[in-house]
Amino acid sequence: MKHELTETIIPTKNDVIVIGSGFAGLAAAIECKINGGNVIVLEKMKAIGGNSIISDGGIAAPDTPEQHLSGIIDSADKMFEDIMISAEGLNDPSITRIVCDHALEAYMWSKEELNVNYLPRVDIFGGHSVPRCYTPHPLSGSTMILKMKEKCEALGIKIYTGISVESFIKNDKDHVIGIMVDTNYSLDSKHNKITQQLMASQGIIVATGGFAADANFINKHNPNHTTTSQTTNKKTTSAEVLEACMDISAATINLDQIQWMPWSTNDETGYGNGGLFGDYIVSSYGILIDTKTGKRFVNELDNRKIVTNKILETINVIGIADAQAVEKAAWDLNIALKKGVIKSHPSLDHLSKHYEIPLDNLQNTINDYNQMVLDKHDITYEKTIESWMSPLETAPFYSMRINPKTHYSLGGLVIDGDTHVLDDHGQIIQGLYAAGEVTGLTHGANRLGSCSVTECLVMGRIAGKKVLETSDRQ
Ligand SMILES: Cc1cc2nc3c(=O)[nH]c(=O)nc-3n(C[C@H](O)[C@H](O)[C@H](O)COP(=O)(O)OP(=O)(O)OC[C@H]3O[C@@H](n4cnc5c(N)ncnc54)[C@H](O)[C@@H]3O)c2cc1C
Repeated sequence: MKHELTETIIPTKNDVIVIGSGFAGLAAAIECKINGGNVIVLEKMKAIGGNSIISDGGIAAPDTPEQHLSGIIDSADKMFEDIMISAEGLNDPSITRIVCDHALEAYMWSKEELNVNYLPRVDIFGGHSVPRCYTPHPLSGSTMILKMKEKCEALGIKIYTGISVESFIKNDKDHVIGIMVDTNYSLDSKHNKITQQLMASQGIIVATGGFAADANFINKHNPNHTTTSQTTNKKTTSAEVLEACMDISAATINLDQIQWMPWSTNDETGYGNGGLFGDYIVSSYGILIDTKTGKRFVNELDNRKIVTNKILETINVIGIADAQAVEKAAWDLNIALKKGVIKSHPSLDHLSKHYEIPLDNLQNTINDYNQMVLDKHDITYEKTIESWMSPLETAPFYSMRINPKTHYSLGGLVIDGDTHVLDDHGQIIQGLYAAGEVTGLTHGANRLGSCSVTECLVMGRIAGKKVLETSDRQ
């Protein structure tokens, strides 16, 4: 009976089908509809949003009004150069270029078209050469997902949840014309599958996100990967649609490249509440300490790959900030403090005893760091000392154990600048488009913080427009 009910709800004939209801999928659907497309969105989970909804929703863009107000000189070229440095030659510069050139437009679109509000601040994360990251208000990816959902409702875009895409259907010209879905999807692997065929005359946009929580897929493509690590992703993050694309000869790249989030802690699951302290406070206002020696060991504002590798080598690591840093950063740490994930210490003596750090070493490290902050030059690790950074000298001191977790799939589908998915021979697979974390060309060996949201909006919107330009597929 359920089968019949579902069949009457999901249209079997569509112009465009978007798979995935995160930032990339919803941006694609909105743009498609605005440009006259008849589009539906399919989502395997009962709730929309994927990893986008649990993210911080921070977006990077250059040359913004906020940067102008703060006197920050930035440009698309500068953002491109920063990504190129951290990508270590593993990205496709032409795709990265598109993301950077359209980043400002995407950021303004989120404000003007979606009505997303941002906090009046510009932040910097490791690897960016200037502050260019904006945080939605309230601080969460759900802020933008809810605005996107409202926009979809206003435009009449239907999002069907609990529908898992399993495979693609091609015609005799090798054009993708439809998909097979399970309309009764459940996380219980023994659930009763109900299979249905859905057709799309214009095209299908794959926006199914990454695979950073899919240990089997990661290990298949990178046998050296440690399976014991935790992840910041939703546990349901998996690669089945990417694999279905590979089954129809879609090319992939960098599947062995997984980004770790250096700033999380094993004292809670996922990115948790402590990530805010690590990523937004310790990295720029504080320091990382090896508890065995009481010494720093890395430029805390270096890119995530470098910081992660150093933390994994060092093993017993904590992040420290003082009361002044926490006040200046102005993030609410109450939940993490109540959970005991972040500890508060009345003195450095108390902190050193808590982690059994040699006090003299710790004190010397902090004295040296404080002097470098006053001198505006980190002679040890060349951390950029911004004007708002201050010496770590005001109690209480705050600390958190730091444990990197898998966070983002850097690799994925190979696309061209119009978001067509390419096959193993570099040819366009007609009717198949992709955007967002499921693609693998933008960031190379490392993604700079806040650049995924930018990419999802830029490439999702391009996909939503380009899919309508196809005319001779059937
Ligand atoms: C905790 C956390 C914090 C982050 N913070 C930031 C940040 O501040 N800034 C930033 O730039 N990046 C951040 N990121 C990364 C960023 O959030 C993601 O890369 C981005 O949201 C991915 O968007 P997406 O649309 O590509 O995929 P997703 O948002 O993951 O959406 C994909 C959707 O596809 C659905 N799907 C998958 N398979 C199927 C199937 N078979 N059938 C139907 N549907 C399917 C999934 O269920 C999911 O809903 C963060 C990530 C995490 C985990």
